[in-house]
Amino acid sequence: MKLRHQDYYEWYIQSCNRCKTCIVGEEGDGDICPSVDLYKMFNFSGGGKSHIALAAIENRIRNWEDIEKSLYSCTFCGACYAACPVTIDLYNLIIDLREVLYDKGRTPPKLKKLGENLLSKDNPYGRKKKFIPPEGVKIYPSEKGKTLFFTGCQARMYEEASSSAKAALEILLEAGTDVMIMKDEPCCGSPVLEAGDYKSFTKNARKVIKEILSTGAEEMVIHCPHGYSTFLLSYELPDNFPEIYLFADYVKKLLDEGKLRFKNPEIRYTFQDPCRISHYMDESDTYYELFEKIDGKSLVKNTLSGKKSYCCGNPFLTPYTDRKLYEFTREKRLNQLSESAEIIVTACPGCQFSLKEGGAEVIDLPVLLKNLIQGG
Ligand code: SF4
Ligand code: SF4
Repeated sequence: MKLRHQDYYEWYIQSCNRCKTCIVGEEGDGDICPSVDLYKMFNFSGGGKSHIALAAIENRIRNWEDIEKSLYSCTFCGACYAACPVTIDLYNLIIDLREVLYDKGRTPPKLKKLGENLLSKDNPYGRKKKFIPPEGVKIYPSEKGKTLFFTGCQARMYEEASSSAKAALEILLEAGTDVMIMKDEPCCGSPVLEAGDYKSFTKNARKVIKEILSTGAEEMVIHCPHGYSTFLLSYELPDNFPEIYLFADYVKKLLDEGKLRFKNPEIRYTFQDPCRISHYMDESDTYYELFEKIDGKSLVKNTLSGKKSYCCGNPFLTPYTDRKLYEFTREKRLNQLSESAEIIVTACPGCQFSLKEGGAEVIDLPVLLKNLIQGG
């Protein structure tokens, strides 16, 4: 059997020495894999999955049913990917194994539906999309601007993610950015990819690239870490694609250019690193540099932060594959964060939803920043 990205990682998985860094972390002092934390078995870890991939490549798997649980009882947090000293591409490896299950018709029905919805309704969850931006934001195709703000599908379905996207747009307007959004913004397809439906994902990705190019934007700003990382890790972007910025990084740039000023927050908060940025992209410093620029004292950094941060449970997919793992992971993370501060700042619609559902007081980053604008 040949897995989709096998050529990238086959040599590396031959080198997995069961060091278990993907379970206990680089310093060997903590549990980093939610799945192993709950199920206590090596085959649920990133390393375990790499051995499953090797067995698949060598056609040693007789019964795929036996390994389904370890492949779906995974929050796709990427802590294993970030920690592995052999640098095994566990991101693509887990997707590839899920693709095998998808092709064998073994994907849980709710996950299978995501791809069907994406292609037929332009949205993996099949929900109606609506989003009313603040006044002053240009709406493509009737108007065009230099900077495209990609709201993400969650902002067009859920009130809180919508408020966060509106706050981000208000900040961009305040700085004088010539900003537009797409009236009918397509979904990046991230949950469909994580479900292993690579064919629907790729078909959608080609359409998304074409539609974004048609806007004529010079740059694209994204707050949703799932969208940001999916564009950069899983899309084949043409050279003329707009330059992609993470919203936090763009705000830092605007501060450096003197286009924004923030007052000091009058609250103490801690921060939930989005796994997509801390583990997959290794860009967590962007957030901490931004917090430092605003006011270095209001943030109480959690001991498990940046590359060492722990997942919120990933409400986009885990509840569909293993609700017990989702709730276990969320509770564990809430306990860790509560040691730092009562208020949690998030930078991801998934973390925002999950931690709030767990009962925490949560503010998403753009909403925090909008309330701090000076002269607005
Ligand atoms: S996947 Fe990487 S971190 Fe995990 S056991 Fe193998 S070599 Fe070690
Ligand atoms: S992605 Fe997260 S939950 Fe899944 S195996 Fe890796 S560390 Fe464990």
